[in-house]
Amino acid sequence: MISPKIQDAINEQINAEFWSAYLYLSMGMHFESEGHSGIANWFRIQFKEEQAHAEIFINYLIARGGRVELKPVAAVPTTWESPLAAFQDTLAHEEKVTALINKLYALAESEHDYATRGKLDWFVSEQVEEEETAQNLIGRLKLIGDNGLALFMLDQELAARTYTVPSPLQSNN
Ligand code: MG
Repeated sequence: MISPKIQDAINEQINAEFWSAYLYLSMGMHFESEGHSGIANWFRIQFKEEQAHAEIFINYLIARGGRVELKPVAAVPTTWESPLAAFQDTLAHEEKVTALINKLYALAESEHDYATRGKLDWFVSEQVEEEETAQNLIGRLKLIGDNGLALFMLDQELAARTYTVPSPLQSNN
């Protein structure tokens, strides 16, 4: 059985993952309507990944005999002035998520809940990747500047991104 304190914190994290999913779906919709279909594809895959993150926590809470409580998802922005602005928002958001995961990790340690701490290891590594990817794309978009052809080529590249089910969901635990 999981402690009420950890259960509440995981329910908060589930909500944060759904908010992330909503944010990236909104970015995907925005860039779709701006004609950047590759960037839109990248964000729509990001949307699926965030839903998967929520599902990992949901499955875990159920496995521990906890209760999942789905809370309202707050509104997200709907427009960005450029692809660079969207990826800067992405990085800032992922840094916040990293802080949330770290806080949850610290709580699991203080509550001596080593199962939860272990479950969070995957998320700790995942956040390193999320931040690195956003940083990389920000760097490239800064180099691209207002070069339309270079932006077109990046858009083509991001169109090739495909969704992979995150490993904790593949093993369904
Ligand atoms: Mg996430």
